[in-house]
Amino acid sequence: SDHQLIYPPHPDQMDWSSLYPHYVVDEPQDQQTPAALPETAPSDHDLAPLQPKRISKDVEVADIGCGFGGLLIALAPTMPDTLILGLEIRVSVTHFVEDRIKALRAQNQDARLYRNVGVLRANTMKFLPNFFRKAQLSKVFVCFPDPHFKARKHKQRIVSATLNSEYAYVLRPGGIVYTITDVPDLHEWMVQHFEAHPSFERVPEQEQEADPCVGIMRTETEEGKKVERHKGQKHVALFRRLEDPAW
Ligand code: SAM
Repeated sequence: SDHQLIYPPHPDQMDWSSLYPHYVVDEPQDQQTPAALPETAPSDHDLAPLQPKRISKDVEVADIGCGFGGLLIALAPTMPDTLILGLEIRVSVTHFVEDRIKALRAQNQDARLYRNVGVLRANTMKFLPNFFRKAQLSKVFVCFPDPHFKARKHKQRIVSATLNSEYAYVLRPGGIVYTITDVPDLHEWMVQHFEAHPSFERVPEQEQEADPCVGIMRTETEEGKKVERHKGQKHVALFRRLEDPAW
């Protein structure tokens, strides 16, 4: 059903080919996956675990709770050789972003734009390490996350000590978590939780403001535009994934 979340048991079993069809690797006939073989009499292949079609690159940038995809669409042409993924829990919103990407790919076929961007329905609070290997990502965006104002709802915030450990796991050393919100209390919460985490350090303001992704995040997210219209404040904080200490 629509409410069922689909996720691979392990990142190696994730089939990215439908999200990034232009990056699918043509494999020689004898290495084809059981699923791709023509239908014949039952054979050993039928017992082998399904191998996903391979793509030539790994996803490197994730937008957690991407909403209607404004950030994804704005980032895609600025890093055309990097695979970018939006993760969104709402079914209808995910479909909207899928259609948006499909239309943009068709309109920009000659320029080969938007082939590097995809969206997936997922609950990022639960299955992040099912989709990404350790140190796979270079950037994670957390833009205008739902504030969950009441104290008893704080456990639903997508920044927490536990979830920050998952972000640390999927990010490579030197990778960056980008956060933005118009809710001062949530900004403080995010800063506090990332600064308290041994795998992260805050990126100094000067470096933050020099990062082109920060400008894009401020102006191109749907929520960022809404806050702009209401002349609200936008609070930005970036955190760098540190090297793990030597044992
Ligand atoms: N990032 C977008 C922006 O800046 O315009 C959307 C912000 S909106 C306030 C928060 C989004 O996060 C919503 O689209 C919501 O459905 C999504 N979301 C909330 N919890 C989530 C979760 N656990 N996994 C994936 N998406 C989630």
